[in-house]
Amino acid sequence: MKQILNFIGGTWVEPAGGTYFDDVNPAKGQPYAHIPDSDNRDVAQAVEAAQGAFPGWSGRSIHDRHRILARIADLIDQNLEELAEAESVDNGKPLKLARKIDIPRASANFRFFATAVMQFASESHHMGNVAINYTLRQPLGVVGCISPWNLPLYLFTWKIAPALAAGNTVVAKPSEITPMTAHLLTGICQEAGLPDGVLNIVHGYGHKTGEAIVEHPEVKAISFTGGTKTGARIASIAAPKFKKLSLELGGKNPNIVFADCDYDTMLSTTMRSSFANQGQICLCGSRILVEESIYEKFKHDFVERTAALRIAQPLDPQSQIGAVVSEAHMEKILSYVQLAREEGGRVLTGGKRRILEGAHAHGFYLEPTIIEGLDQQCRTNQEEIFGPVVTIQSFKTEEEALKMANSTPYGLSATLWTENLTRAHRTAEQLKAGIVWINCWLLRDLRTPFGGVKASGVGREGGFEALRFFTEPKNVCIKYGDA
Ligand code: NAD
Repeated sequence: MKQILNFIGGTWVEPAGGTYFDDVNPAKGQPYAHIPDSDNRDVAQAVEAAQGAFPGWSGRSIHDRHRILARIADLIDQNLEELAEAESVDNGKPLKLARKIDIPRASANFRFFATAVMQFASESHHMGNVAINYTLRQPLGVVGCISPWNLPLYLFTWKIAPALAAGNTVVAKPSEITPMTAHLLTGICQEAGLPDGVLNIVHGYGHKTGEAIVEHPEVKAISFTGGTKTGARIASIAAPKFKKLSLELGGKNPNIVFADCDYDTMLSTTMRSSFANQGQICLCGSRILVEESIYEKFKHDFVERTAALRIAQPLDPQSQIGAVVSEAHMEKILSYVQLAREEGGRVLTGGKRRILEGAHAHGFYLEPTIIEGLDQQCRTNQEEIFGPVVTIQSFKTEEEALKMANSTPYGLSATLWTENLTRAHRTAEQLKAGIVWINCWLLRDLRTPFGGVKASGVGREGGFEALRFFTEPKNVCIKYGDA
């Protein structure tokens, strides 16, 4: 069994309570590592270390911070194979996905924010011949970063890189379901010369370790990515303490297909936006809305291609669908397929657990699933399933498509397929979502604002938005003349 430890003040330490719980390899359904079951004592120790490191780190020049963060990015690249395999084993995702997307994006996050902080500037406001105002943007102090299991190192670094670049020190908690690559990152940070106490990682359960971070009075801001219910709980604790909050939450994203789209590109991208990472990406288009005139053709082609996807253990180079992250999550997804049936849905393909042979017989594999025949208001079409399950529905008019697209509590992203430029702009404007992709999906420029509306979250990550979140603006007004 592998052993994960907390990383506090630059050293690897046991949890104060001395207890651990299992990290399960979802591809085999077997425990393979021990995770610290940390509590508020560990969090207090981490906050103390971060407080101690803050004056030194925030006082370093931006060139120094740039150099260290860029070095972390280089070391992630150099350790790509080890990190990709660790991510695949911990999460169940195909190794080739971790190698192509997750780990390169983790290094890109560090490289991007190492550079962004060199370009970051603040405003000044000139008042005639009277005064000049300028905005100081100062780091907040100790900040908390809490991330989910679906893109473990990718989303963990998406938070800690801007927090560190802006001069904060960090107490971070990766998901207790996928903590391995965050643990491996600690060695990389040390090798890169990140000073002790600047990044502290405390492992453990959300309700215990996570809440202790949110509650701690010296943690000035919380950057959280995860489920909407958890986000509400975190907000209820942090808001009365007036902490800065960034909440990136769940989604139920529409993928709207107009008959005038580039059909082949739409179909191959829709395969990815439906089932990449076993459908466990907050941006997956789980509700596919198709214009009536091409609905039957789309249904035929989509079902055929989905049924042909290769479900295999994640380290198999041919694997297109790996394991979902845990047994509990697999059961949750299957319960939604059952609910869809009860609501009158027809399962066109998939809908079941897949048992693999040999060492992977106890892994958590699900067939990619397509369901039709449901109305927009049923629970299957309103609630986030977060697995390889999509519904397809037809629409007659643009107005109807928009109404369906906007009628969930969520508003993270939307995808739109049309060759009609006017319609593309008109529809993008009316979609209630933080991100709209036209004729593409998950095409990311890290400078753009990233986040959702409605129950999908509050605040934006990405680019200067993230650096603004992790700094406090202070206006300085200097009078030098009379009106
Ligand atoms: P989750 O909310 O269960 O857990 C996320 C993190 O929060 C974990 O580290 C967990 O330990 C911690 N946590 C749980 N309860 C807590 C509490 N009371 N206080 C503090 N921390 C707590 O989410 P998950 O199941 O890990 O991830 C899946 C969810 O994340 C989905 O809803 C998905 O849509 C969402 N997600 C959103 C985005 C986005 O950018 N909007 C990206 C990825 C995933």
